[in-house]
Amino acid sequence: MSLVDFFAYSDGQQWMAEAACAAPNVPHEWFFPDEEKGETSVRAIAICNDCVVREECLAYSLLHGEEGVWGGQSERQRRRMKRHAKEQALEESNQAERAAEEASS
Ligand code: SF4
Repeated sequence: MSLVDFFAYSDGQQWMAEAACAAPNVPHEWFFPDEEKGETSVRAIAICNDCVVREECLAYSLLHGEEGVWGGQSERQRRRMKRHAKEQALEESNQAERAAEEASS
């Protein structure tokens, strides 16, 4: 299945019509590298770097837990982004708690 086909079956996201990876000359496989075979995300990420819907794509993939390269980020990079966001949210929550405790004492 090409990315064009995949996007055709997606949930009607308008930005997908502008996806650089949907061009017929872009191999779908580049976006789903098999690391065990030594394949990397480099070629896919290069396509993403020129894509006009990169931000929408990244947000969509983070929300839906997609596999492969989306929004110029590999799966590993997106996992790291999510972990960092959770840690940051926890730290902000802890800071707010401490500030509330200090204000009430
Ligand atoms: S950012 Fe990358 S994966 Fe997302 S639509 Fe653009 S080219 Fe495709």
